[in-house]
Amino acid sequence: MDHLLHRLRLDQPPLGRLGDPQELTLALKDAIGSAPQPPADVLRTYTDALEPTVVSCDHPAFLAFIPGAPTKAAALFDMVLSASSLHGVSWLEASGAVAAENQVLRLFADLAGLPASAGGCFVSGGSAGNLSALVVARDTGRHRRGLSPHAPVRIAVSDQVHSSVGNTLRILGVEPLVVPTADHRLTGDALRVALDAAERDGGAPVVAAVATAGTTNAGIIDDLEGVAEQTRARDLWLHIDAAYGGAALFVPELRERLRGIEHADSLVVDPHKWMFAPFDCGALLYRDPKLARAVHTQDASYLDAIHGADGADDETEWNPSDYAYHLTRRPRGLPLWFSLAVHGTDAYRDAVAKGADIARRTARLVEETEGLELLREPELTVVLVRRTGWQPEDYYAWSKRLLAAGTAFVTPSVWEGETVARLAFLHPGITEETVRAILGSLVDEG
Ligand SMILES: *Cc1c(COP(=O)(O)O)cnc(C)c1O
Repeated sequence: MDHLLHRLRLDQPPLGRLGDPQELTLALKDAIGSAPQPPADVLRTYTDALEPTVVSCDHPAFLAFIPGAPTKAAALFDMVLSASSLHGVSWLEASGAVAAENQVLRLFADLAGLPASAGGCFVSGGSAGNLSALVVARDTGRHRRGLSPHAPVRIAVSDQVHSSVGNTLRILGVEPLVVPTADHRLTGDALRVALDAAERDGGAPVVAAVATAGTTNAGIIDDLEGVAEQTRARDLWLHIDAAYGGAALFVPELRERLRGIEHADSLVVDPHKWMFAPFDCGALLYRDPKLARAVHTQDASYLDAIHGADGADDETEWNPSDYAYHLTRRPRGLPLWFSLAVHGTDAYRDAVAKGADIARRTARLVEETEGLELLREPELTVVLVRRTGWQPEDYYAWSKRLLAAGTAFVTPSVWEGETVARLAFLHPGITEETVRAILGSLVDEG
């Protein structure tokens, strides 16, 4: 309890550092033996040897990948969850928890402009959401075309789609129809050309398209309206991966850029990214949840009790297990529910807007700094920067120096074949001073 309170009371967690494999092996050598040990001793192994080697994603200067920065309220409530052994599989076992999770899903559906019928569940994240949604897209597509349950089909994706979608299609045995993008953005026109060509190429029918609302590498939002026009005209399932960018729905100025998101047949948003929920928390919504139930509901005699054997209605007695490939799950939407209720949605709007604002201000600082080049105006919160004259190894050495110095955690990425610096903002607590220090380190230490 002391450790929990200490951790929760920190204004800012330590940034952390990279662990040494030999030191860690040594620290863990006798950790698990046949005899019991005092919990305080085991905890000390964690606090002294393990925890320092975990980089805190919620440090304001964690600007790598996509950070996460849970509110204290959400982190606290996560402990309530852990202390309660809540089993979020079904209405029968956890109706109150499911009702609260559904309240959050309803809020997202309303922000996105999805119909009153929309619904889904919380999953571990964008990858699990993409997989669960695209199974439904595939099977619904086959069914609507009168194809056999194993008939080959294709799903259209852009060449910028998240790696988890590529993985998903491999798992599903679905061939991607890769649509090339000009300027990294999937457009309705590009999709139309690719779909027209696919009709003539003798390949399997295309049953769905995936659009991204905020690419992970650069925060680019696809032409959702143009893409939706194509999918609607051709009766294709539209899946929108808004794992990172979905939080922009809270901010009216940013919401504008997501126009077309209301046409999604399935939508993924990761609250553990830019919505300040603890890991792991992904929201998955379907326009018509019936279609998801038809695919995901598991049929077994021991599950009859949760599936209306007593005459219960699956529409009102909602089972999260019917909307993704999982069964047992923690109701991981609850920490977000608690935090949303405690802070109110205006606070979320302001906190999300702050991330976009610091990204824009960073872009201006980059432009003003001799030796730095802004590679693209940030649409959301990712800023890509070239340090004139640097080779890939310079960026990696710089990244290591910054972490070792405890200044920031920033990892390089590749943009148009070139290694560059990438700053992914999100934490509303990052200061311009820290940003200046990071940019300064790019030009000073070369
Ligand atoms: C992060 C991300 C994912 C994967 O989400 P996880 O929660 O890490 O599984 C998928 N798509 C996009 C666009 C993302 O940014």
